[in-house]
Parts: sequence; structure tokens; C-alpha cells
Amino acid sequence: MNIILFGPPGAGKGTQADNIIRIFNLHKISTGDLLRNEVNNKTDLGIKIKSIIEEGSLVSDDIINNLIIKILSDKKFYNRLIFDGYPRNLDQAINFDLLLKNYKQKMSCVLNLKVDKELVIKRILGRQTCTKCGFIFNEFFRPATSQNHACGNKFLVKRVDDNEKTILHRYKTYLDRTLPILDYYKKLNLLHEINGKAEIGDIFKEISTIIASLEA
Ligand SMILES: [Zn+2]
Repeated sequence: MNIILFGPPGAGKGTQADNIIRIFNLHKISTGDLLRNEVNNKTDLGIKIKSIIEEGSLVSDDIINNLIIKILSDKKFYNRLIFDGYPRNLDQAINFDLLLKNYKQKMSCVLNLKVDKELVIKRILGRQTCTKCGFIFNEFFRPATSQNHACGNKFLVKRVDDNEKTILHRYKTYLDRTLPILDYYKKLNLLHEINGKAEIGDIFKEISTIIASLEA
């Protein structure tokens, strides 16, 4: 089976993807990782990608398609993929269907982790990391106290780019880009909306039920 996972920053997509990979024995494909691999391995394509990124330009759909073809044609990944961050636009989504067909595969389902703006802001804005022990707290949902954190508050730091304006911008960009793609998969009856506000464990239970029903 092949799955696509969507969700805005702060939706807990990474955690869920890790669980899905582990339990259902899938391979995670993120175009970011694929691009980095090419650059690090200094392939012909990687050299081209590096100069595009250094120019500050966006990597073209053509290049992304080539990377996806590499994955789809690889026997060890056959029908065991979860895509994160791809497709990024409607053209990629439509082309993705053709590519899957060419490699005798299909998309099994599309999971969309839904969280509202307020929650995304609190999850990201409230995030505090302890520079001493590395533990991550959240001042709204899981505040550090004298009971759960011995280092004391002076070691707690926030990421500088995590301010409300930046988060809202990332959230809006994500929605604008993703809504047409979700619409597309909805029409194909592949879209499952997941309540991203629930507890991590409950979200995974819901996802597991959906994936298990696909396997049956
Ligand atoms: Zn600490």
C-alpha cells in the first residue's frame, strides 16, 4: 500500500509518520530528504540541485518527478511507501497518478491531519527546550514544573523563528498550497480527515484502523 500524509507544521505529522513506518513496515519518502541525498552523494542531478538551491530558486517539478521515479522503480520500495511533503501542488498530484500507474502501483489513501490555527500557534509558540537535559516542554500543554524538571527554568529556551507572525505565515502558505490537492484526492475518494487535536495515541489508533481496513 502507498499512503500520503498531510498536515500543517505543528500537527504532529513527524510523530505519526514514525509510528506508521514502524508498525506497518513502510518507507517514508520526503522530497526534502531525496534532494539532500542527491546533493550529499554528488550525483549529476545533485550537482544541478545544489546550484539551484544556492541560487535561491525552487527545484522544478521535473526534478522532483525524476526523484519520485527513482523511488517507484526501486523494487525494495514496491507498494510500501508513505509520502511526506509530496505532492506539493496539483500538477505534481496529477502527474503522480500517472507515475504510479506506470510502475504498476496505486495510492491507497491520503491522510490529512487537521488542526486549527490556534492550536498550531500554541503548540509551536509554547515549545520550550531545556539546554541542559534536552527535554521539550510546552508552556500551554506540558509546562515545566519543579516536579517534572529538575534543571530549573533558567535553561528553558524557545526557537527564535517561532513567533506568531512566522507561524501564521507558514500555516497560511501550507493551507493555500494544500487545499487544492486535498480537494483532488477527495474527488478520488481517497481522502481521510483525521482530528489532529486528539491525543497522539488516539490519533494513531484512528490512523491504524484506516490502514488496517486497506490491508483487509
Ligand atoms: Zn532540563
